[in-house]
Formats: sequence, C-alpha cells, structure tokens
Amino acid sequence: MDNRQVTVAGAGIWGCTLARVLAEAGYKVRVLEKRSQIGGNVRCETDPKTGIEVHVYGSHIFHTHLPEVWKFVNRFVEFNGYQHKVLARHAGKTYFLPLGLALVNQFFGVELTPREVPAFMADEAHKRAIFDAFFRNYTSKQWGKAPEDIDPTIIQRVPVRATYDVNYFNDYHQGIPASGYNSLFERMLDHPDIALSTAQAFTLEELGTETVFYSGPIDELFGFKFGPLPWRTLRFETERLPVADAQGTSVVNYVDADVPYTRQHEYKHYHPEDKRVMGYPETIVCREYSAEWQPGDEPYYPVNNEESAALLKRYRDEAAQYPNLVIGGRLGQYKYFDMDKSIESALATAKAYLEAHA
Ligand SMILES: Cc1cc2nc3c(=O)[nH]c(=O)nc-3n(C[C@H](O)[C@H](O)[C@H](O)COP(=O)(O)OP(=O)(O)OC[C@H]3O[C@@H](n4cnc5c(N)ncnc54)[C@H](O)[C@@H]3O)c2cc1C
Repeated sequence: MDNRQVTVAGAGIWGCTLARVLAEAGYKVRVLEKRSQIGGNVRCETDPKTGIEVHVYGSHIFHTHLPEVWKFVNRFVEFNGYQHKVLARHAGKTYFLPLGLALVNQFFGVELTPREVPAFMADEAHKRAIFDAFFRNYTSKQWGKAPEDIDPTIIQRVPVRATYDVNYFNDYHQGIPASGYNSLFERMLDHPDIALSTAQAFTLEELGTETVFYSGPIDELFGFKFGPLPWRTLRFETERLPVADAQGTSVVNYVDADVPYTRQHEYKHYHPEDKRVMGYPETIVCREYSAEWQPGDEPYYPVNNEESAALLKRYRDEAAQYPNLVIGGRLGQYKYFDMDKSIESALATAKAYLEAHA
C-alpha cells in the first residue's frame, strides 16, 4: 500500500482545500464527490442568456479577517471588491441593515448623533420596537417558530453600530471571485496529484487502511442508525424578469409576517464590475423560503438543541472507532461555518495530519 495516498470524500470548500494542501505536500489525493459537480453548496451556474452567475444553493459572499485564508484563496482567483449590503423591507419601507445609525434614525424619525445612540438604544421601548419590526417575524420565518415564541432577549445580543457604516460584514477582506466561484474550485483541484471522480459517493464499506477525509453528513455515513440529525432546509423560487434591475441591490430581507419568504436575491449585483451583465435588459431574482427539513431534502442550517447535541455525540463516538476516518466540514461536524472558517478548519486538519505523518 502506498501510504502517501489519501481519499477526500466531498468536493466542497473543506474537501477541496484539504485535497490541494495534501497534494502540494506530496500526497496522491483521490477526491470523491457525490454530486455530478464540485463546489458543494457554493456551486454556481452561469445563465447562458444573461451571463448572470446564479448561486444555486443560496447567495455566497466571501468575507474574512483571516490573513492565511485570504492569501490561500487569492492564489486561485482574483476577487472583485464587492462589498455586501443588506436591506430590510418593513411596512412598505426599505431600511439599511445592520442595526446602526441609518436604520435607527429612519425608523424612529430622529436625527441622533453617534454619541446619542447607546443611550437611545438602551431604552427598553426602543429595543422592543426594533425587535418587533425587524427581528421577531424574520426569525420566526427562518426557524419555523410562532412569532410569540421568539425570545425577545435576542435583541440584547444584536450589536448596535453608532455609525452610518452599512457594510453588512465587519471583515477586512471581502468579495466575489471575478471569474466566478466555480473557477475557484476547478483551480484548487487542478493539480497533477489530485484525481477527481464525480457522481461517486463514499460509503463506510469502502473504508480500508487509507486515511479518508469525509465532509458528507455524519449521520448518513452511519446509515442514520441513531436517527437523522435535524436541519432547516430552504426552497428557492427563481424568476427571470424583463428589466435590467429589479431591486437595486443584491439582497433584501423581508422582515414582515405577511410575506412568506425571508429574502429576495438579485444575483447580477454581485458582479458590479461586469458591465455587460449589469446592463443586460433582463435580470434573475430568487425568493428564499425556509422550511423544516425532511429526509431527502437539502440540509442547510443545523438545528442546535439538546436533543441534536446528544444525537451528534452518539455519531461522534461511533466515528471515533475508525482511526483513519477524519470527519469535517459543515455536514460532518453538523455546524454552520462561513466559507473562510471552513477553509481555516481544512488548513488546520491538513497541518495536523502532515505533522503526525512527517
Ligand atoms: C443559505 C446559505 C448561505 C450561505 N452564505 C454564505 C456566505 O455568504 N458567506 C460564507 O462565507 N458562507 C456562507 N455559507 C456557508 C457555506 O455554504 C459553507 O461554509 C460551505 O458550503 C461549507 O463547505 P463544506 O465543504 O463544509 O460543505 P458543502 O459545501 O456542503 O460540501 C460538502 C460536499 O460533500 C459532498 N458529499 C456529501 N456526502 C458525500 C459522500 N458520501 N461522498 C462524497 N461526497 C459527499 C456533497 O455533495 C458536497 O459537495 C452559507 C450557507 C448557507 C446554508
């Protein structure tokens, strides 16, 4: 057996990062991907007519404060400098998120200065009004709970910006690959020692003596023997519209109860540098609905509670019996990770493996 041979199961951002780092360290890497395409949930499709990059599994914006991660992704693609802003539609008006000076002044019809914001927002009535308008119904739709069951103390944990900074993320680095997300994954796997097979799911029966890095669902790997871990799923309703620009921005959150979807995305705004796409007299919008996950649905957000934590522990204890099985990624760890954190986790996993096998 060639012990410088490993398998990576799952060609999402976690698996592709691992495959690349291990190949560059001298390993022969076999990558197995269950779907017919690589990229996991960051996968996009370019609309042939308009050239719009459609995010198949929901909008993805790359953002990070981790220099190592930023350096890594910039080896493969150039980022377009897109800065993410999110608007909220409430009671017929449009507001800038996150919770900051722009939203507070517009919502309450005041003209606070940065110095006045903390005292104003410390007032229980103001906090309550913001919670009821922007958080209660949105959270209820997102998690499928009755509005009255949404914990009002979440508003205590929402940071208030005492500035007009409406950049949604605080991270220093941000953007979308100018050549598209798919090119990031194609280039990561473009290495002579990486052999990719798509439409090929890894199963536990295939586990031999070679190390396998697995980023599929942990419960599925063990045949759901303790029962399925619960998820929230999403349904996307995509529409082509005969206008160059439908909403003037990439994402609008619909925070009221009378609108059944949570957000509407307009993908062309992720590429403001692409004048052809921006000027094309058609656009593609997508309304996002949140729903309870049923077996067979795409898993999007883990439902973290005591029950799922106990179930996860049982699967992890089971996995611990296989010393050459390394489980990671959002599905393997049953954890929400942003893309940069997925890469950080894969880099750390690769480093630990290489140190242990030096
Ligand atoms: C709606 C939504 C929006 C998001 N937006 C952002 C954002 O704006 N910015 C950001 O940084 N992050 C965002 N994220 C997070 C981002 O999607 C994750 O960080 C990323 O997808 C994690 O990559 P992964 O490789 O762990 O998992 P995945 O992308 O799920 O990849 C896992 C891969 O494993 C494959 N697989 C499964 N089982 C098997 C098997 N048995 N054998 C072989 N292959 C298998 C799957 O087909 C898949 O390709 C968002 C997440 C969601 C849910």
